[in-house]
Amino acid sequence: MSPFLFAIGMEYLSRCLSLLGKSKEFKFHPRCKKIDLTHLMFADDLLMFAKGDDASVSLLFEAFSKFSAASGLEANMMKSELYLAGVPESVALSILAKIGIPRGFFPFRYLGVPLSTKKLSFTDCKPLIEKTVARVKSWSAKLLSYAGRLQLIRSVLFGIQLYWCQIFIMPKKVLKEIQRICRCFLWIGAEGNSRKALIAWDQLCLPKICGGWNLKDLPLWNKLAVAKHCWDLSLKADKLWVKWIHTYYVKHNDFWTMPIPNGLSWSLKKIWQQRETLSSSGDLQKFVTAGKFKIQRMYNHLRHQGESVGWKRIFCNSHASPKSVFIVWLALQDRLATKERLRRWNVIADSVCCLCHSTDESRDHLFFDCSYSADIWNQVLQRSGIHRTAGTWNEEVQWVQKASRSTRSKARMCNSLFCETVYSIWLARNSKVFSNQLDNSLSIVNRILFRVACNS
Ligand SMILES: [Zn+2]
Repeated sequence: MSPFLFAIGMEYLSRCLSLLGKSKEFKFHPRCKKIDLTHLMFADDLLMFAKGDDASVSLLFEAFSKFSAASGLEANMMKSELYLAGVPESVALSILAKIGIPRGFFPFRYLGVPLSTKKLSFTDCKPLIEKTVARVKSWSAKLLSYAGRLQLIRSVLFGIQLYWCQIFIMPKKVLKEIQRICRCFLWIGAEGNSRKALIAWDQLCLPKICGGWNLKDLPLWNKLAVAKHCWDLSLKADKLWVKWIHTYYVKHNDFWTMPIPNGLSWSLKKIWQQRETLSSSGDLQKFVTAGKFKIQRMYNHLRHQGESVGWKRIFCNSHASPKSVFIVWLALQDRLATKERLRRWNVIADSVCCLCHSTDESRDHLFFDCSYSADIWNQVLQRSGIHRTAGTWNEEVQWVQKASRSTRSKARMCNSLFCETVYSIWLARNSKVFSNQLDNSLSIVNRILFRVACNS
């Protein structure tokens, strides 16, 4: 059936059900009468409401049957459920026997999320956790760089959670578990918890100028996404659920000052509680664009800001490949797993540099005190027409930091040369450590220059 014809059909169904309100025998669901609500429709899903008595439920189904007879569209009884509350068991059994639809119980899942009037439990959220784990397992993470995994976390894993986060306040335990899965995926490429993270998760959530990767702080995002519903409530937005709450709970009171009403469901109470978050944030208009509340703006305002780092431009303004920028980001904070650091953690006993065999392998040695890496860096600089020789790590960082302030193409190239060289030396070092193979410096230099040319 064409979507347009379907929409016309649904309009007819909607009218059949709305007409019920005019019948004297039909009684509305007690919480629907004031807004004359008999049904809700979303695509091909239909929810019908009535008072839990024989006559009203029968009339509701007769109206639907009338539509079925006229349109040929029938409900799949196996996929339908009848929810009863506040009805004596004898009446419930009589209705169920008459209608022939199985009885349903809360919570049930709709559009992938559990619908419940009670507090969401860890078990209710298990599907979300399972989905996240399944995604992580489906990716061949071993073949992905840190930057690739970070991108997957940002685009796919967070995408799944943000959907849930926009609907409910999630249990803290669930958000922590999801964060743990993401953290393990980033640092070890799989589900588990065996290796120490090289950088704390909180830092990854900082803005880039503070040395983070701008990942979402899920608990804060969750709170603000729910605060958005509270904003809609305060504005009496033109939405059915807002109208319903105003009719039954707000009535003629001032939403901002009235006490939170008794008898609210758990999720509504949580929405209402976000009133404090909104009212303590000063002028709310700064979070509004074209009449719409922007979660991102309030998030930027409230999140932990951190302190701006001196090397921010090397990392923020870089046009080098993301995987090299990630390694440079680790190197800048001296968090690469060099032999010297591994020895400090008692992982290995021997910390001699495997590239030159002359001294311990620390970050400052590897870049560019080591004769092997200094040779590479010198060749890269020379072949790019830059007249300087490799200095210490700190000297080179200061040089590239200064160059990264400019947007000129030569300055951008200096940044790329630095990032790709650090990355390539780190790869060469890993290849020597793990496979005992070492390319000659000329082929590494050629590779670096090729990568830089591709980035520009
Ligand atoms: Zn060395």
